[in-house]
Amino acid sequence: MKRVSLVLAFLLTLSLACSLTSLSEGTGEDGAPSTPSPQSEKRCGDGVCDGPENPQNCPADCTAPVEEAQPSATATGPEPPSGEPQEEIPPLYFFYVIHTHAQGDWLPYEGPPLLDLNPTTADNMLLAITGIQEVLDRYGVKGTWEVVFGTAKGLCSYQGPNHIFRQLEDAGHEVAVHAHRTEDIDDAYQNLVNDCGIIPVTTSGFIPEVERAGPAGAQQAMIDAIQTSLALGLTVGTENLSPGGGKNPFAELCDNQLGVANDMWEQTGNLMFPWRPDYINGNICADNPAGQMVLVDHVSIEWKLLPGEGVPQALSDEHFERLRLMFDAALEYMETRRPDRVAAWGFVTHITEYGSGGKAQHPPDPASLAALDRFLAYVAEKAAEGRVVFATASEIAEAVYPGVVP
Ligand SMILES: [Zn+2]
Repeated sequence: MKRVSLVLAFLLTLSLACSLTSLSEGTGEDGAPSTPSPQSEKRCGDGVCDGPENPQNCPADCTAPVEEAQPSATATGPEPPSGEPQEEIPPLYFFYVIHTHAQGDWLPYEGPPLLDLNPTTADNMLLAITGIQEVLDRYGVKGTWEVVFGTAKGLCSYQGPNHIFRQLEDAGHEVAVHAHRTEDIDDAYQNLVNDCGIIPVTTSGFIPEVERAGPAGAQQAMIDAIQTSLALGLTVGTENLSPGGGKNPFAELCDNQLGVANDMWEQTGNLMFPWRPDYINGNICADNPAGQMVLVDHVSIEWKLLPGEGVPQALSDEHFERLRLMFDAALEYMETRRPDRVAAWGFVTHITEYGSGGKAQHPPDPASLAALDRFLAYVAEKAAEGRVVFATASEIAEAVYPGVVP
């Protein structure tokens, strides 16, 4: 019995490694100061130009000549006065990040040297990818497929020139870098370039490295991952830095303030306004217009953890129902607040979470993919009403900060 629990705990840890590591920790919010001064609420829209706000990222508070690089995708026709609600409900940018790996970054190879490829594992991974893609393409949803070094090399050499990642790009999806250690970012990038012929611009997977660094080293670990990525031309990062639930150390380090005016996370599960973390001055919480990296935040994997359960063997309607509540909250935010900045909401899964098993031992379960289908059908209804725009992570970053994608 005890052994079973240990094994479960181990599997849980492995599965959570990508985006959520310390569920058992408290939120760290309890003692946080929550009494802002009457003037400044430390957010864009409070009428005070302070903190990371400046005329570019918060014209509502910072009156100054407003010329270039306004973060606005809805700037067509005469604009309403800054800071006041728009008449039209602005659309929500919707994205789906797929961590394209199984438990073992060398898979579909048998081990880290990336020498012996297991064709059954490769086939199951490919079936999972094409199974998910089929659902996305049915609704025009664009995936951001984040690939680790072993999967990139394995699947591209297994399939040859017309490999799956080429097909995904041709279908309008994005193929991006994923690494669980900062030192693996380069390998994932090089394998995508050299084995797949793909030049990625988006990077991901920083949180495990940040967790290993502990709270005292978290800022520096994040800065190292950002600078390693930028050196390769990777200027967009998808992470889950939303506060709440002790998901990462930044809630506490940043006093729940990341970027500008990201005050919606309790309802929506993510920070809807992408920002340029100030790695230059050692503070990723703050926005710095000089920063070259844009962080696009997605919801944490908590929606997959039903009360009393561990990581699901296969995602079902019950899981997606929890996700839908956060998505609805994001739509409601757009309706009530009508921000004049690009706002995005996205979620993440692994390719293996549709019944393939942690090591891609099985093909995906059609029933599980059908649950994804039903959720995306709901999202597509909102897109048909003009409330949602489907985009990849780099398309969102480019919409917010034109020119950020090389
Ligand atoms: Zn991962």
